[in-house]
Amino acid sequence: MRVINFNAGPSGMPLSVLEKAKDEFLSYKGLGLSIIEMSHRSAEFEAIVESATSKVRKLYGFGDEYAVLYLQGGASLQFAQIPMNLSTGKVCEYIDTDTWTNKAIKEAKILGANVKVVASSESENFNHIPATTQDDFSKDADYTYICSNNTIRGTQYKEFPKSKSTLVIDSSSDLFSRPIDISNVGVFYGGVQKNAGPAGVTLVVIKKELANRVNESKVPSILRYTTQIKANSMSNTPNTFGIYMFDLMLDWVIENGGLLGMQNKNIQKAKLLYSAIDEMSEFYKGHAKVDSRSLMNVTFNLASADLESKFANEAKEAGMIGLKGHRSVGGIRASIYNAVSLDDVKTLVEYMREFARKNG
Ligand SMILES: *Cc1c(COP(=O)(O)O)cnc(C)c1O
Repeated sequence: MRVINFNAGPSGMPLSVLEKAKDEFLSYKGLGLSIIEMSHRSAEFEAIVESATSKVRKLYGFGDEYAVLYLQGGASLQFAQIPMNLSTGKVCEYIDTDTWTNKAIKEAKILGANVKVVASSESENFNHIPATTQDDFSKDADYTYICSNNTIRGTQYKEFPKSKSTLVIDSSSDLFSRPIDISNVGVFYGGVQKNAGPAGVTLVVIKKELANRVNESKVPSILRYTTQIKANSMSNTPNTFGIYMFDLMLDWVIENGGLLGMQNKNIQKAKLLYSAIDEMSEFYKGHAKVDSRSLMNVTFNLASADLESKFANEAKEAGMIGLKGHRSVGGIRASIYNAVSLDDVKTLVEYMREFARKNG
């Protein structure tokens, strides 16, 4: 029996993907060895990297002017690696939507980048994506940095800001969940463990010309994008099994309608859950403002922390795990990533109705 998994990351994977990996685990394609026993330089593994990369390109529309990399150190290393490679002393613009952008700002400052926080939703407890206009941005900036979906607060950009310099986007918690406008994207990255695979792989899509900005005399080789671009992500041994699982996840995304298919399903799921919260607003208080609500992480509060614990604990007994909010903010969070089905969300909504009836 498998649980219904609302974990924020690492998170649930589709059963068919897990089964495929299980079937191939002892002997990949009849070769008599497992992926985890195989050289990263083997033709078989290189084919997996090629396959994943061509799917990433096709799904989002990234052309040859972009490099697709599989790095380590998590999305967190990117907080530092980005300014290390892309800051040239001009202003680096950040929009602060809490935790993940806070951390990125902190790292950029440590590295001496000229950080400017262009907009923030801090004064309202990060319950929305701050609105910006073109006038907020400079065309003489090194880049404009955003996090497309705040995993902890449950807020998500509907449209990317109209910045005048290139956009750097942390998309860790909404990778492959919807089509995006890539016209102004310089770097698009994320840890794949939220929505697209297991932990240990950071997908980084970067415009090659941006990567070339790096000052090679200042940045250690392994931390330069140019190094990994030249080595096709194999300057050091990559997370081979993680990349393999990521490739299987992309097959699943494509089989299920691609990014549009994912988006349609994600909208349906989110609608169902937010409608339930709105209907029972005496009992469940949504955190995010309506126009900033995330399709991925649905955050809400009950009347007290005790009641929230009871909610999460009894849900667990009923086979639904991962509903406790992030330790930094408390509350309840249901992460309804691509692998969570509409039926899973229906089960949660039924449970919410029942719980409100019993405890209201
Ligand atoms: C989880 C998360 C991170 C951190 O990812 P790691 O892989 O643990 O470093 C960064 N940004 C966002 C938006 C996240 O959800």
